Amino acid sequence: MALLNKRRLQNTEGDIYVDSTCINCDTCRWMAPTIFQEIDEQSAVYHQPDNERERIAALQALLACPTASIGTVTPPGEIKKVQEGFPLPIAETVYHCGYHSKNSYGAASYFIQRPDGNILVDSPRFIAPLVKRLEELGGIRYLYLTHKDDVADHLAFHNHFGCERILHEDDINSQTSDVEIKLSGLLPFALAPDLLVIPVPGHTKGHTVLLYQNRFLFTGDHLAWSEELNHLYAFRWACWYSWRELLISMKRLANYSFEWVLPGHGRRYQTNSTNMQKQMQICLEWMESVSGK
Ligand code: SF4
Repeated sequence: MALLNKRRLQNTEGDIYVDSTCINCDTCRWMAPTIFQEIDEQSAVYHQPDNERERIAALQALLACPTASIGTVTPPGEIKKVQEGFPLPIAETVYHCGYHSKNSYGAASYFIQRPDGNILVDSPRFIAPLVKRLEELGGIRYLYLTHKDDVADHLAFHNHFGCERILHEDDINSQTSDVEIKLSGLLPFALAPDLLVIPVPGHTKGHTVLLYQNRFLFTGDHLAWSEELNHLYAFRWACWYSWRELLISMKRLANYSFEWVLPGHGRRYQTNSTNMQKQMQICLEWMESVSGK
């Protein structure tokens, strides 16, 4: 819970504030960009909500914040209604789970509702209001884990929903040694006709991405949109395994068709498949340009 006595001085006056425990994960800034801004390497409120839409977005960010660093001076009466809005619809039956976990440095996780079994993509916090909503939406058949950094509460979700967890063997460690489906090698793995897991070593050795319906690409920490660069990019300075391998993986990924990039960190991006191909080429050119750095 955020504490008033830790309220950052950089917040503008008003009900909503960020306290000094913020880990600067960026979540609140993309969820409620008219309210939160980075100031002095942490988030702060630069504009208090002045309509219901902004207020709801700010409270959604409050619930999503991995460190409970966002607070309100007066208890928000509408918080139960905001809780019931999660997971937040993105497009069709694809949702943003919210409730980011500190254990994955605030990475986003997603939920796909499908007739043949729902998928949780990376792990949010295992927290009662979200668990209840996921039950109402039909539970979880598979918990797909993009890579070892974003597994958070995977065991609690497995124990509660009985879902099979999927992770590449090169990213398995003592905490994930008992996952049910262990992927191997570099060949794509068709989990179902509409679900393709594509190995993309680079950020970590066992990183994979998930392509759903040839439209939605869940990218973990492999690929994201950068507001600063104004194009797709990879995390050059947060690449734990091999930048060279990451570049090779990205070249392979550019051969696939998709319309959405839904990352763990960084911003999401949507366009038509033709333009996405162009954006992938821009990303690759940029990656080549920073390879020596
Ligand atoms: S979501 Fe929380 S931890 Fe992340 S930047 Fe915002 S206030 Fe900081």
